[in-house]
Amino acid sequence: MLEKLKGWIKESKNIVFFGGAGVSTESGIPDFRSSSGLYSHSPEYLLSRTYFDGHTEEFYKFYREKMIHSEALPNRAHEVLAELERAGSVRAVITQNIDGLHQKAGSINVIELHGGVRENYCMECGEYHSLEYIVKSPGVPRCRKCRGIVKPKVTLYEEPLDMKEFERAVNYIREADILIVGGTSLVVQPAASLVEYYRGDRLVLINKGDTPYNSRANMVIREPLGEVFEKLLS
Ligand code: ZN
Repeated sequence: MLEKLKGWIKESKNIVFFGGAGVSTESGIPDFRSSSGLYSHSPEYLLSRTYFDGHTEEFYKFYREKMIHSEALPNRAHEVLAELERAGSVRAVITQNIDGLHQKAGSINVIELHGGVRENYCMECGEYHSLEYIVKSPGVPRCRKCRGIVKPKVTLYEEPLDMKEFERAVNYIREADILIVGGTSLVVQPAASLVEYYRGDRLVLINKGDTPYNSRANMVIREPLGEVFEKLLS
């Protein structure tokens, strides 16, 4: 099966990859939903706009501990996708993750559906602040220019999705010859519905468990993502 996929990849200049939390777990980043047992609130509440606005300091405590993984390194899936982009085969990487590992691996055209930890802006004047600035600020990060509160450009619960990014993702998927979906069970909407826009006949799912799209897929691979990508390049 992997030989067949290798053949498809060789022929295509228009591959789109769409990934979920499973892409990052192989870099040692746990799904935040499974790692918040010690907190008195649900992760959905701790990552909500209500909590950010009302309990900014506590929000940042959780966010720094559970959402920022500055030490994490890209795995083979990230690296091979970046290589395939440089080779002109992959046109876009669409991700539900906020950790910035695709960019760290060298991917250029990355669509972050839920934003990312690398971009942070002052809520008063819009000044950009780096991830390092957020990590090093004690308590609530304040703008270096105006002392306003700095907010990560991450889509919190209760906040609308960035429709401009969503539309970009739709356009790439609609035009793709090969759509590779990895590390997501495709159940969280509206991201999962992106697959609906694919019109080709080379839909590849790489996921350990079942997804609602398994029957529609042209190929289903149940191996770990890093291993699959490693073999694709060999
Ligand atoms: Zn400011």
